[in-house]
Amino acid sequence: MNTATEIAYLVAAASFILGLRMLGSPETARHGNLLSAFGMSLAALVTFFGDEMENYGWVLFGIVIGAVVGVVAARLVEMTAMPEMVALFNGSGGAASLFLGWVVHLSTSPNFFTASTVIMAVFIGGTTFTGSLVAWAKLRELTLAGKRLGGAYTFPGQRAINMGVLIIALLGGVVYAADSSGSVAAGGLAVGILLSLLFGILLVVPIGGADMPVVIAVLNSLSGLAACAAGFAVENAILVVAGALVGASGFILTTVMCKSMNRTLVNVFAGGFGATGGGAGTVVDGVVQPIMAEDAYYLLEAADSVVIVPGYGLAVAQAQHVVREMSDLLEKSGADVRYAIHPVAGRMPGHMNVLLAEANVPYDVLAEMDDINPVMGTVDVCLVVGANDVVNPAARDDECSPIYGMPIIDVDRARIVIVLKRSMGTGFAGISNPLFFRSNTRMLFGDAKTSLQQVVSEFKD
Ligand code: NDP
Repeated sequence: MNTATEIAYLVAAASFILGLRMLGSPETARHGNLLSAFGMSLAALVTFFGDEMENYGWVLFGIVIGAVVGVVAARLVEMTAMPEMVALFNGSGGAASLFLGWVVHLSTSPNFFTASTVIMAVFIGGTTFTGSLVAWAKLRELTLAGKRLGGAYTFPGQRAINMGVLIIALLGGVVYAADSSGSVAAGGLAVGILLSLLFGILLVVPIGGADMPVVIAVLNSLSGLAACAAGFAVENAILVVAGALVGASGFILTTVMCKSMNRTLVNVFAGGFGATGGGAGTVVDGVVQPIMAEDAYYLLEAADSVVIVPGYGLAVAQAQHVVREMSDLLEKSGADVRYAIHPVAGRMPGHMNVLLAEANVPYDVLAEMDDINPVMGTVDVCLVVGANDVVNPAARDDECSPIYGMPIIDVDRARIVIVLKRSMGTGFAGISNPLFFRSNTRMLFGDAKTSLQQVVSEFKD
């Protein structure tokens, strides 16, 4: 590698690190994203024109295909389908690392160290690829043989089978790394590849419902680790750095998600939420009290303090702008308005923050779950916009509930709760919600955007 390339890689690495740091705050996130994109473009350009580049035709072909698919997908994807797209991105990263490891095997006779990195790139990459495809299907809420894929699929002996597949795959890797030439080694690599693909499916299939955020974060981290291993295999410093950064930030996200769900990683992967009877055990008392937009207006208009709790339904309805409009009107009428965001609300980490930022909701009115819960008893009206699992009191009160132990936003402790949703349907975890039957809960049925537009019209009239 010549000096110019080294300097360019250093600049790219610094851009990634600074960009990541800027992503930590909503105010600087946009610029952080651009800075990281600049770093990645620089790294790609320098690699493309580097001394070690061969086969320009094939590389250009790959770049064109990737760019066309990326641009078209990014332009066409519905905002509501972003989580699925992120899952596919993770999977593509895994597949790329798998292929890179494979190419190193085909084109060189790797020494022990390189062969070890090849097997890691292949194994982690393959697991990430198929695991992400299953995560995609779960996020898309596809059904298989009439059963919702979003739930947890378990079968007898599952853990033993998973462990067996993992051990055989690792043995294949050891055989390959011990002597990476010859047909036995190729067989070891083939076993590693095939079983890693199988392992990705087996790993994610039993995890369902509310545990999915942890899985997404783990897959994100794994895609980085696979890239890092591939970077070592092809001796490309910037790929090592980029992969390590994704792996480390994914790991931090995983710990944040585990903390948000009050779960350990082992707990999640040993089978968990959604695997125990779909919350049928939750006893639901009380009567549903539906209201009209006009009633909601009177309740809100009389409130001194309002907390808005967004959930996945806000994203489906694309109601972020009208929520902002309504909170402006509430503030004008003298109410104190805050937004309480649960870390796993929506379908991807930071989902609600992204939507609210799009509607220019000021950051200082956003409250974390831990800060808002202690004062929830003093709140006049809590407006739940398309949230369900993250406000389900069964997680706090019902030991039989599959989501028991998951921290929630205690909206039921507010004086009045207004829930905006279209029906009595369940959320992602597929379990009933006793909140909807509480005496202080009012249900405003309908699409969240339409309902909020009606409330806003009442304010304007
Ligand atoms: P939920 O999925 O629990 O509930 C969303 C609710 O929105 C539904 O009950 C639905 O009810 C309602 N809804 C849908 N469309 C509309 C609409 N147009 N207008 C009004 N309401 C609508 O969402 P939460 O945000 O509360 O919880 C997130 C769940 O997703 C958790 O279980 C979490 O673990 C999981 N998850 C989170 C990920 C993350 O990274 N954040 C990733 C993967 C899963 P109805 O159909 O009656 O309208």
